[in-house]
Amino acid sequence: MKPKKILVTGGAGFIGSNFIRHTLHHTPHQIINVDKLTYAGNLDSLADVSQHDRYQFEQVDIADAAEVSRVFQNHQPDAVMHLAAESHVDRSIDGPANFVQSNIVGTFNLLQSARMYRSRLAAQKSAEFRFHHVTTDEVYGSLKLNDPSFTESTAYDPHSPYAATKASADHLVRAWGRTYGLPVLISSCSNNYGPFQFPEKLIPLTIIKAIYGHEIRVYGDGSNIRDWIHVSDHVEALLVVLENSEPGQTYNLGGNDERTNLEVVSSICQILAEVCPINQNAFLSSGQKSKLKSYEALIQFVPDRPGHDFRYATNTSRIRNELGWSPKVRFESGLRKTVKWYVENQTWWGNLLNEELVRQGLLSGDATSN
Ligand code: NAD
Repeated sequence: MKPKKILVTGGAGFIGSNFIRHTLHHTPHQIINVDKLTYAGNLDSLADVSQHDRYQFEQVDIADAAEVSRVFQNHQPDAVMHLAAESHVDRSIDGPANFVQSNIVGTFNLLQSARMYRSRLAAQKSAEFRFHHVTTDEVYGSLKLNDPSFTESTAYDPHSPYAATKASADHLVRAWGRTYGLPVLISSCSNNYGPFQFPEKLIPLTIIKAIYGHEIRVYGDGSNIRDWIHVSDHVEALLVVLENSEPGQTYNLGGNDERTNLEVVSSICQILAEVCPINQNAFLSSGQKSKLKSYEALIQFVPDRPGHDFRYATNTSRIRNELGWSPKVRFESGLRKTVKWYVENQTWWGNLLNEELVRQGLLSGDATSN
């Protein structure tokens, strides 16, 4: 494998930090991590690799065009892995402006800088340059129970402000590929889970609420379906696409593990009963322990969120057939590892809860869904 210098945007987030760790451990590539450090960006997620000799960090807002241009000139990357985005659907409903800035304007700035930078490269370096944009299956809209899963040619039909801004960014990326010949790649992934996910998303928030004995609020009747992929499978797929795909291609990624939200929440409660039994749970007072009969007893159904998509499912035949990638981690074993990771890593999420979730009342209140 030829060593590359990869400019990773959003590397202090959930998927970005997992991508950087995996890439440093399993490839000869260099990483330039470009991140604004929003509430979702956390350098603690990279503490074990922050001193690595192939790793550098730049605190930059991708909505700032001059800064983005400076980063390209200073670091002369061989590839961009673009993950930076505002990523939480509920926040996009409450305040869509940041989503437009980071997800649309930020992507535009990266494309423009990449195009200008590439136009000044020598022929071979220019031909080998890649701009890999990471998007979501939510751009395709919502499926009914028996609909076939999303393929790469499914028409876009985004419903939430988050999905609409990601769809806009995808269109910009494809246009820069077609109009300016920028060698772009797009991968569109289903719901991720695993270590270092900000504890506002369904799986980590459910684990943390349960171990504190707080209500676990589930939207509607919990029947919404998501296709879950372990983040380790996603980051491997990103490298497979980056190394092997022809410019202009799109690949759908997913775990092929569909579960209702209620199944996910119930599974977490069952795993916690084994790995953190109520009578040994150090997060609960003795009074709470004597009252709480089971973690499932914490589940409460609350009115559905506006425009809540019923089902997402991705068809991953294309990447399986063309690039030989398929997910390795089954949901049951990945979820068990993830629950144990959150139980054992309070030092990572405890700071985030203090700074953000308690301020927003998320721990004691809101329902959640990815
Ligand atoms: P995340 O919210 O955990 O991390 C996003 C990162 O981007 C943070 O470190 C944040 O500081 C940074 N960022 C945000 N705005 C920025 C800006 N203006 N400039 C620079 N940095 C900025 O998100 P994630 O779950 O790791 O998702 C990463 C990418 O993958 C996103 O593009 C998301 O749309 C996509 N995706 C996520 C999932 C999922 O299930 N998490 C699924 C499919 C696709």
